[in-house]
Amino acid sequence: MKDILLCDLDAFFASVEQRDHPEYRGRPVIVGGNPEARGVVSACSYEARRYGVRSAMPMKKALRLCPQAVVLPVDMPRYKQVSRKVFAVFERFTPEIEQVSIDEAYLAVPGGRGMETAREIRRAVREELDLPLSVGVSANKLLAKMACELAKPDGLKAVWPQDVPEIIWPLPVNKLPGVGPKTEELLKKIGIFTIGHLANRTEREMTTKLGSYGKELYLLANGIDDRPLELIHEVKSIGREITFDRDKTDPQEILAVLAFLSEEVGYRLRSKRLKCQSVTLKIRREDFSTFTRSRTIREATDSDGDIYRVAKELFEQSKIAPPWRLVGVQVSGLLPADFRQLSLLGDAGREKEEKLLRAVDGLRRKYGKGVVHRAVVLKRQTRNVK
Ligand SMILES: [Mg+2]
Repeated sequence: MKDILLCDLDAFFASVEQRDHPEYRGRPVIVGGNPEARGVVSACSYEARRYGVRSAMPMKKALRLCPQAVVLPVDMPRYKQVSRKVFAVFERFTPEIEQVSIDEAYLAVPGGRGMETAREIRRAVREELDLPLSVGVSANKLLAKMACELAKPDGLKAVWPQDVPEIIWPLPVNKLPGVGPKTEELLKKIGIFTIGHLANRTEREMTTKLGSYGKELYLLANGIDDRPLELIHEVKSIGREITFDRDKTDPQEILAVLAFLSEEVGYRLRSKRLKCQSVTLKIRREDFSTFTRSRTIREATDSDGDIYRVAKELFEQSKIAPPWRLVGVQVSGLLPADFRQLSLLGDAGREKEEKLLRAVDGLRRKYGKGVVHRAVVLKRQTRNVK
């Protein structure tokens, strides 16, 4: 079971403006369209909310409520830029991210790690980007969302399924996602004012009265939600291949290329914080006949060396005759990198290698991809120079 986090930046556009213009801090800030052209409020700071200003409200009305507000136009390119930085922080913690909007995302993390991860993400966003982020934590999307609503502003809260009667049921029924004003009216007519009232009817009654939508609401009111995350990186495999200018006949050269490709693939795995459970070798002969060979590995890995060893074995066992036109390395069976399998190997050696790879990746990011390669790749390049 995964823990689900709903991360939502508070008053995002307004917070970016207050961050970049310290003179706006502590003042009501409204970001939105031109009041004369029937513009609406896109975002408003918590100071403005105190005057009753809300998102989507006509600007004219907002300014009547809060005439002293700092009014700013929507600077979407800049907010998008900041948003990308926020999502880059999220991606350091998990590859399983569903983007809901420019300032909101669901994250899945290993079960039991939700609160700890949420605290770290909030700290990172605050320290590195100076922005307030609220996070709701639970076992599903619905409860994470509701926990986040309760956490705002700039807060953190968990609502677990067993907390539903105590925390969720007393809330007015319109706090349930999916209940708009029309449904609210309808529910009130049958005596449902709180989420608890809805939860304590029967599934059959709700289905009879509101159809499949009624059944859905009934389940949500009981904290039941099995919607999966719609991931932004639905990565099923990562691969790299090279077509040669001239067909190759020297197996040593193929091994050197495999080492290079394994490094590329390993690097991409680690930058997505993933590990793989199988490696596929692809070879194309000069007559365009194409062969693939796969092997599952005992322990998920993101190490260049592990990937290379499997690719090398597959190549040596494949006995596919030269000349070769293309080779490729692909990894699949991807898992989040922090997924811990029982290690059959000594952990000390593995830790040492992981440390080395992190250092190598740091150098690559700093100086470009070409800077560090295994010795076997360097040998190939030297030979090419001759
Ligand atoms: Mg938000």
